[in-house]
Amino acid sequence: MSFTLVSPRCMIVGGGAVAEIAALLGKLGLARPLVVTDPFMVASGLLRRCLDPLLAAGMQPAVFSDTIPEPTDTVVEAGIAFLRRGDHDCLIGFGGGSPIDTAKAMAILATGDATAKMRAFKVPFAADHAAMPVIAIPTTAGTGSEATRFTVITDAEHDEKMLIAGLGALPLAAIVDYELTFSVPPRTTADTGIDALSHALEAYVSRRANPYSDGQALRAMELIGPNLRTAFHEPNNAPAREAMMLGATIAGIAFSNASVALVHGMSRPVGAHFHVPHGLSNAMLLPAVTRFGLAAGQARYAEAARRIGFSGSPDDAVAAEALAEGLAALNAELGVPAPRAFGIDPQAWDDRLDLMAAQALASGSPANNPRVPDKAEIVALYRAVYAANA
Ligand code: NAD
Repeated sequence: MSFTLVSPRCMIVGGGAVAEIAALLGKLGLARPLVVTDPFMVASGLLRRCLDPLLAAGMQPAVFSDTIPEPTDTVVEAGIAFLRRGDHDCLIGFGGGSPIDTAKAMAILATGDATAKMRAFKVPFAADHAAMPVIAIPTTAGTGSEATRFTVITDAEHDEKMLIAGLGALPLAAIVDYELTFSVPPRTTADTGIDALSHALEAYVSRRANPYSDGQALRAMELIGPNLRTAFHEPNNAPAREAMMLGATIAGIAFSNASVALVHGMSRPVGAHFHVPHGLSNAMLLPAVTRFGLAAGQARYAEAARRIGFSGSPDDAVAAEALAEGLAALNAELGVPAPRAFGIDPQAWDDRLDLMAAQALASGSPANNPRVPDKAEIVALYRAVYAANA
């Protein structure tokens, strides 16, 4: 039995590290970047932190800034059209997970001809090839996309969040600079932070966990556990932002090497059908889905509780219970709404339950859960989550 370990070739980590972008490209033999980002990065001036060092080094970066949150295949196609008008040797994904995922998807889709569709690359297809390297610079402490072999793209026509996986989605390099996250508002800090926590937790309890991913997942939980609330309440707390950023990247490495499980499997359909931001849909599901698997994965859930700081008990049953309770309390403190409080219509939720459960199962992620659910159990979980905390 073997397992394959992947991570970017180079990661530069630390406050102010984004200033090293031009030197990094030089080391990698790259000189003609297209920066893929979103309108907020341009309007807020954050993008200058990436562009200025490139311009100072004599490069002439182009910018595609039309990415949207939870990117669609339509946006990726627009990005490809922009890419083909220039002469570029790499993509820089600058922003939250959405711009980074867009850049990755562009690099993959560009391996095809002008008629290629993103849908053809979704799992179980192995998206191992990219037309050019991607350098990722995250500005949220959440997705870990800078270090993962995944990109998530919504099929706009079918309302399906497609998981695209393979070496082609793994950035060649990343710059992880927590100073880019000071401006993240509390709601997004909470959602992205719980996203990172759910990556670490799901990687740790995944049936595909291995000794390498375990080490990364446990360290990520130790970094995120004590710092998420602080980053939420005190946006300018540098040590908390730094720990969250590193924790999110390490959690990305963990789940990229172990896969995620039921939370993510159920979360993607919620995001696709009801346009709930990715981190928030994970957060809505995390307490109930954790409780669902608690008995089946008790020892690992208990260890997670200790690393996050929810329990100091050596008794696994006690610590595992503290995890489920701690996650619910965390949601309450961070103001995570249940789907009903988010504004999702009860009839619309009910009407989609069957389809969402089928899509969750088809993604393959639920099969990695300590307790593998059938379709009826997934529907029951969706029903329970709808009015939770309300
Ligand atoms: P996002 O990129 O959609 O950004 C959310 C909002 O925060 C946007 O309005 C953005 O402009 C803003 N923002 C970003 N950085 C900011 C900053 N420094 N200051 C102020 N505002 C800032 O959110 P996200 O949660 O980072 O990414 C979500 C996407 O990532 C989803 O599409 C999800 O499916 C995907 N994802 C991918 C992976 C992967 O491995 N590839 C893993 C998890 C999630």
